[in-house]
Amino acid sequence: MIVDLRSDTVTKPTPGMMEAMTNAKVGDDVFGEDETINELEEKAARIFGMEAGIFCPSGTMTNQIAIKCFTQPMDELIADQTAHVYRYEGGGIAFNSGVSTRLLNGERGILSAEMIEPEINAENIHYPHTSLVVLENTVNRGGGSCYTLEQIKPIATLCKVKGLKLHLDGARIFNALIETGDKAADYGKYFDGISVCLSKGLGAPVGSVFLADKETIKYARRVRKVFGGGMRQAGFLAAAGIYALDHHVERLNIDHAHAQILASELAKCSWVASVLPVETNIIVFDTVKPATEVLQKLAGHGIKALSTAQNRIRFVLHLDIHPEQVEYVVKVLKAL
Ligand SMILES: *Cc1c(COP(=O)(O)O)cnc(C)c1O
Repeated sequence: MIVDLRSDTVTKPTPGMMEAMTNAKVGDDVFGEDETINELEEKAARIFGMEAGIFCPSGTMTNQIAIKCFTQPMDELIADQTAHVYRYEGGGIAFNSGVSTRLLNGERGILSAEMIEPEINAENIHYPHTSLVVLENTVNRGGGSCYTLEQIKPIATLCKVKGLKLHLDGARIFNALIETGDKAADYGKYFDGISVCLSKGLGAPVGSVFLADKETIKYARRVRKVFGGGMRQAGFLAAAGIYALDHHVERLNIDHAHAQILASELAKCSWVASVLPVETNIIVFDTVKPATEVLQKLAGHGIKALSTAQNRIRFVLHLDIHPEQVEYVVKVLKAL
């Protein structure tokens, strides 16, 4: 049996999703004529209480477009040191936007208004102008830790008072919503921009949406074109996104339950030093021996995972991991 726990990006479209894709009505989206993309953009914006949306090939592109929209060259943005926008987007903040990054040490990636406020630069020609705060929910490197909306509100208030924009890297926002019980529609009140990945836990093969007000999205269309992300008959992909929003949100609690089962099993293993608290679909644990050794053993049983540091391994649960596979992994962990 092969069990791929490397990432929630490894999922393949389900038969229902494939059918939705092949039946999609498409047109040239650079001309604004792909009705399925238009439908997806409107639907996603409505779900999050935002005015408008733009469909992009990747979450990296939605984040990079957001940063470009919300900053000017020579500005600075504030993010946690684990942030995807900083660590995993190839230096795009500096390259695409000419912006520097102030990194904070949050609690497993979770920031507070108290942490952010002293890091906002005063008006002084020596200092870069702080113009943007980026939050991630859930936090990938935090082991899927999540913000509640109550934690976000004071940050949003601070940003408003200080004249900063607030962007959400919501690659796994639905995992956070399922866990916290917060309403997606309330998010629009607190963020200037939101990125939502359709190709992570939601199981679409490609695509992310960037949500904001109409004026920002108008500018985002210009930026997307410059970044080379203007797609044509991509409604086939947008159809997968619509299907995912309709059918694959509620089921995320299954992934969370599976993560709990595996985490409690890992906690009992003598070769595991510690397991980070598990809140959603990601498990991060530290191993006694080097992670590469453990990964090799797991691979011998068909279990694929990634190491995120020398003695650290990450498991990610997703749509294509079924209960039988979870049972199998438990058996292997017990015997390892
Ligand atoms: C996966 C991910 C993204 C976007 O990644 P793409 O592979 O470019 O779609 C953005 N932020 C976080 C936290 C992610 O985990």
